[in-house]
Order: sequence, then structure tokens, then C-alpha cells
Amino acid sequence: MLTKDLAICIRAIDYSETSQIVTFFARAAGKIDAIAKGSKRPKSPFDGPIEVLSHGNIVFIDSAGEKLATLTEFQQQPALINLRNDLFVPYTCLFAAELLNNLTDDYDPHPELFDGFLDFLHNVNEQHLTTNQRRDILALLILFQLILLKEVGLKPVLDRCVNCRKSGRVGLAPPPLDQSILDVPDVYFSNSANGLICRDCESSFPDKIKLTKEASDCLADLKQIPDSAEKTLEEIEKVMVHHLTGLLGRPLKMAKHILRN
Ligand SMILES: [Zn+2]
Repeated sequence: MLTKDLAICIRAIDYSETSQIVTFFARAAGKIDAIAKGSKRPKSPFDGPIEVLSHGNIVFIDSAGEKLATLTEFQQQPALINLRNDLFVPYTCLFAAELLNNLTDDYDPHPELFDGFLDFLHNVNEQHLTTNQRRDILALLILFQLILLKEVGLKPVLDRCVNCRKSGRVGLAPPPLDQSILDVPDVYFSNSANGLICRDCESSFPDKIKLTKEASDCLADLKQIPDSAEKTLEEIEKVMVHHLTGLLGRPLKMAKHILRN
């Protein structure tokens, strides 16, 4: 069956002298692996070899139980990101694509995540052309990672302590639910708890990481992220990479290009 969709290429590997195997994140279909026969021939049916982060309309033949779909058309739009610039921006976009590839399942559609990813690529590119500050790119990456986690059902709890809210100790007054974690003096992030942990609960979470006041305020109130200091965003991104690595249970290839140390 021929299927039309709008898609972004998130992975491309050489399959033979002339063909590639590509992974697309498609708006209606979700993630698909497809063979692009002849994509590397001089007269390619896909306007040349398919590059990671290229996007446009695709037509493919469903894999019908087989591992690979067959790509029959790809109208590549002008690239959003110039991968030949040896800079933080393309690495950030490739890192986002790696996360998307690892955290989504084949043929599991996430149209909002697709739109969020396309917006992210546009915004990063725009930022690159205007300020090109590391801080602004990091802010966009952190917000995209949070959209991704939410879409795949792994949204971290950032507005209050994960633990006190859940425990509601018997015989004692439950903690006031309207108390924001912003008012709590020491705040930690725990991978296993999937969110923020307060000082009273931290001893039960050996994997916790202590956050600076700036970083925890920022996570508890995401509107602060675009205006935060680069140092704070570096700290948050380090926590995010640690968390995502823990979720996936293996190292992320592009992470070393994102973190400073
Ligand atoms: Zn607590």
C-alpha cells in the first residue's frame, strides 16, 4: 500500500554502493525504517543522497510485516541545518534526532511531537542565524527534550517533590499540595523518581543530584528557561543527559558534543 506523509529523516546509513537505509519520523505514521533504492546514484529519485535532518513529503510502501518499508518518493525541502558547519548547532540537532529515534517506537504516531521537532529545527536554525549563542540553543534543546519526554509518557514531575505528594503519610497531615517546590530550600533531581525531590525525602533516593537554586527554580517554572544564564542551562542539560541515559540504559552517542565537561 502506498502511503503519503510528511517526514523528517532522523538517521541514514549506507546500505550498498547506491542505496541507503533511512529512518524517518513521519507526522501521521510515526517512525519508519525504509530502504531508499538508488538514492546514491547520480540521477537519484530522491534529489540526491538523503541527509539526516532533511525533511519533506514522502511516499512509501508499507513494510507489511517486513522490517523495512520501501521509499518511492521524497521531495526534500532545503536543509534547515547546514551539517557541514562544524558547530554546536548541528550537533544539537543530531542529538535531538538521536533521542527521538531512541525514545519512539516504529509506527507509533506522535503528530504533536513531529510538529515540536520541526519547530525546534526551525527555531535552532533561526537562532543560529541571528545570535548563535550557546545559551539560546541549550534553552531550545532543554524545552524540546521535555516535550519529547511528555509525548512518550515519561514527563518528569517538576512542580513539586515527587515523593511527598505520593506518600501522604497515614495519621499525619498531608503536605500542602499548593506549596511550590520553589519555596523549598534544597532541591534534588532523581532519575529513579523521575522528578524533583525535596530535602526531607532525598535520603531515600541514592541516585539524586543536588541542584542549584537557579536550576531548580528554572525546572519548576519552565518559562524562566529562555532567560536563564548559560551556566544554569548547562547544569540542567547535564541532568537531562544523565536522566535520558539512565532511561535508555545505554550511552547517547552525541551527548559528548553537547556537554562541556
Ligand atoms: Zn519530599
